[in-house]
Amino acid sequence: LAKRSGRNRSISFDKLTQDASTAKLELEQDLYRALEGDEFRLVYQPIVSLSDQSLYGFEALIRWHHPQHGVVPPVDFIPIAEETGLILPIGRWVVREAAKALKHWSVSLGGRLTIHVNVAAPQLISPDFVAYLAEISREYSLDPKAISIEVTESVLMRDLAVDTLRDLRNFGFGVSVDDFGTGYSSLAYLQKLPVDLVKIDRSFVRDIAGSAKSRDFLSAMVHLIKTLGLAVIAEGVETEAQSELLLSLGCTRAQGYYFSRPMGGEAVEGYLSAHADGYGEFRVG
Ligand code: C2E
Ligand code: MG
Ligand code: MG
Ligand code: MG
Repeated sequence: LAKRSGRNRSISFDKLTQDASTAKLELEQDLYRALEGDEFRLVYQPIVSLSDQSLYGFEALIRWHHPQHGVVPPVDFIPIAEETGLILPIGRWVVREAAKALKHWSVSLGGRLTIHVNVAAPQLISPDFVAYLAEISREYSLDPKAISIEVTESVLMRDLAVDTLRDLRNFGFGVSVDDFGTGYSSLAYLQKLPVDLVKIDRSFVRDIAGSAKSRDFLSAMVHLIKTLGLAVIAEGVETEAQSELLLSLGCTRAQGYYFSRPMGGEAVEGYLSAHADGYGEFRVG
């Protein structure tokens, strides 16, 4: 009996993996049509300055509105897009869409907002990436300083990417290390890389209110990042307690559900007018 149930288990396991790969194949085929079908949207999550509660900018995050499956989160399709090379046209769409949005908002803002854009490894090592970004920022007459490219540590470890990052910095674009602390980069690496900002992954923020050890650890990370002369953003701030602790530990900027969930472009306009204080400054608190 034990043997039979064991075999049954392995049969159903095979079936499960088969179903999963069929589903993945279907998603892949759908992905090829998604761009021309206008199925992608960007949502934007505010990044705030903790010291004065002002708005620093937004992170652009992609959503796929699949005609049958509804909203597919990026974790479910970005890896497929990377494997198939579709990340290149999708990535170009993201850059243009984010620049267009920033330009649109900047009309009332005097160009003080920064937009953060996530970029995957194949984009960064494609030869025309910097040229495309430069072209887009010219087209929408945006200061390159207002655009920050977010890359993860695994991307940073590739030698090819480092030249591109240097080009980006020379052009005036920002380069942020995303999800810092979850990858494999050594601290020595962080020091010599052409980056100007580090985003501390939310796993290091989660327990700071309840655990002195987590608090000390985060404090050390913030201190180190600032010692290297880099700006810092804490990710995944969900409570007021976390927000206050971060500020007391020297962290100057943050994003997370406590401040705002990511929102569509129209909602951003409402958000901006709700937080304008009449002096051209935006206060979230
Ligand atoms: P990420 O760049 O680290 O983005 C932050 C993720 O954390 C987002 O998930 C955001 O919705 C979520 N988040 C924000 N605040 C909180 C919070 O307080 N609590 C929790 N639990 N989560 C929070 P999302 O939008 O699902 O994106 C997941 C990942 O997909 C991103 O991680 C990024 O690596 C990737 N991604 C998103 N958009 C793009 C894109 O346009 N291009 C590329 N290449 N990757 C993208
Ligand atoms: Mg990011
Ligand atoms: Mg992140
Ligand atoms: Mg993260």
